[in-house]
Amino acid sequence: MEHNSSNFIRNIIVNDLETGKRTHVTTRFPPEPNGYLHIGHAKSIVINFDLADEFNGKTNLRFDDTNPVKEDIEFVNAIKEDIKWLGYDWDGLFFASDYFQEMYEKAVLLIKKGKAYVDDLSADEIREYRGTLKEPGKESPYRNRSIEENLDLFDRMRKGEFGNGEKVLRAKIDMSSPNINLRDPVIYRISHATHHNTGDQWCIYPMYAFAHPLEDAIEDVTHSICTTEFEDQRPLYNWVVEECEMTTTPQQIEFGRLNITNAVMSKRKLKQLVEEGIVDGWDDPRMPTISGLRRRGYTPEAIREFVRETGISKGSGFVDSQMLDHFVREDLKLKAPRTMGVLRPLKVVITNYPEGQVEMLDAEINPEVPEMGMRQIPFSREIYIEQDDFMEDPPKKYFRLFPGNEVRLKHAYFIKCEEVIKDEDGNVVEIHCTYDPETKSGTGFTGRKVKGTLHWVEATQAVPAEFRLYEPLLTDESEETSTEETEVVEKTFLDQINPNSLEIINGFIEPNLKDIEPQTKLQFFRHGYFNVDPKHTTKDNIVFNLVVSLKSSFKL
Ligand code: ATP
Ligand code: MG
Repeated sequence: MEHNSSNFIRNIIVNDLETGKRTHVTTRFPPEPNGYLHIGHAKSIVINFDLADEFNGKTNLRFDDTNPVKEDIEFVNAIKEDIKWLGYDWDGLFFASDYFQEMYEKAVLLIKKGKAYVDDLSADEIREYRGTLKEPGKESPYRNRSIEENLDLFDRMRKGEFGNGEKVLRAKIDMSSPNINLRDPVIYRISHATHHNTGDQWCIYPMYAFAHPLEDAIEDVTHSICTTEFEDQRPLYNWVVEECEMTTTPQQIEFGRLNITNAVMSKRKLKQLVEEGIVDGWDDPRMPTISGLRRRGYTPEAIREFVRETGISKGSGFVDSQMLDHFVREDLKLKAPRTMGVLRPLKVVITNYPEGQVEMLDAEINPEVPEMGMRQIPFSREIYIEQDDFMEDPPKKYFRLFPGNEVRLKHAYFIKCEEVIKDEDGNVVEIHCTYDPETKSGTGFTGRKVKGTLHWVEATQAVPAEFRLYEPLLTDESEETSTEETEVVEKTFLDQINPNSLEIINGFIEPNLKDIEPQTKLQFFRHGYFNVDPKHTTKDNIVFNLVVSLKSSFKL
């Protein structure tokens, strides 16, 4: 398959299979259902599914739902929909919460082995005792509780005898380890909260660092691919797998996360945009969520190719969002029908065209794909052109319509501007032109040449449409993305919102589009690619989202 270009993770897998370390490949995509997926997640999805696919392996979808308060079934469903839309089908579908009993038993095993203890220190004290990169940590006064006492306390934690935060279970590893993750990490905490899957069955919940390796091992995941912020946790990951005596040994491998210019890519921030009503939901076309990109009109093919092109490495730089645009243009070029739409209409009356006459003109649906056939567009005495395509007093090299100038109307005739009609305030309200019947498109007219070709829509049959034009949501090019764990709340984030990120205008489209279905993608001549918005389009109001304009300076 074309996407199996070499990368270091692939090399590890090839080597594992060659040396017999592994006889099969199983990967997983493990989202926490606390928000919608974004394009960063798409990278993880593509890597995991592509690799397993190449080696006839399996990829599980596993909801990492170990935190009862932030998670919701709405997110579970949205995540499934997005993965399917991206073109992937998981093998196993699992919930980490299904393993709570097994994880509990593993914690008991650690206690019995003298490898875990119940600690009464508060969260603040634990942080204080943990030490720093330069200084070793201090042992908790509760560290040397007897196994019996630990078993009893942990059982009572489970039974709900203690309040949130009163006690935790910690792994007993090494308070002076240079790796802070190994300084007796907390592996269970008390949380009296209802879980979306297990209800009120549990009031203690495993911490990510303990739960994740167990989840991978339970599912016999061979290559557990994650992002580089987990690199320092790898020794703990391996410790958990070994000390819990798991029969399979997954290997954690880290790669650099995807960051894109002008895009917020932290679930916490995306959630904030949604909750504060700054955007029109998780699927707002300005959002870098999969559902936002879908609604905007990006295709799964373009997203997959983009993500593959960004490559897999340990480093995590910023990728220019124009690269994604490049791939969607490439994908839509041959797929999207071409059409004409006037976004900011200006009426043109063709004074020498017979009144009441309408003729139908033939036009190719996509000249690059003749098999797509032809469409019919009406032409008559009144049409709309783009306001930008007329200037009363043009600068040099303006080849569009101005008094005395002749232009070509795409698929129709040459017209010449004869008169400008203005209102009392001097605003141009209408242009009067004449046309030359000899110049009809497709008749091979060579009598004279014109420099400008304009798009247009016949006025009496034109269908009104709403166009939504987008700019990046953030004005800052270097918006950092980071994990929830390492994030500090920055005041600046909402200050960077681009006030011009959405512009709504009303124009006209060809009448053959009046019953167009939501999510249809079209190329509007001279404008760009547009998608029919699935949320706001109604029978009487077709809404188009601008996917990308036609031209770009971006080169791969
Ligand atoms: P965020 O930091 O945006 O809140 P997350 O990492 O908390 O995302 P998870 O649901 O835990 O979200 O992520 C599921 C998987 O997607 C993880 O394996 C994670 O490493 C991966 N992932 C998340 N963001 C990116 C990214 N920007 N690039 C590559 N992989 C990512
Ligand atoms: Mg996470």
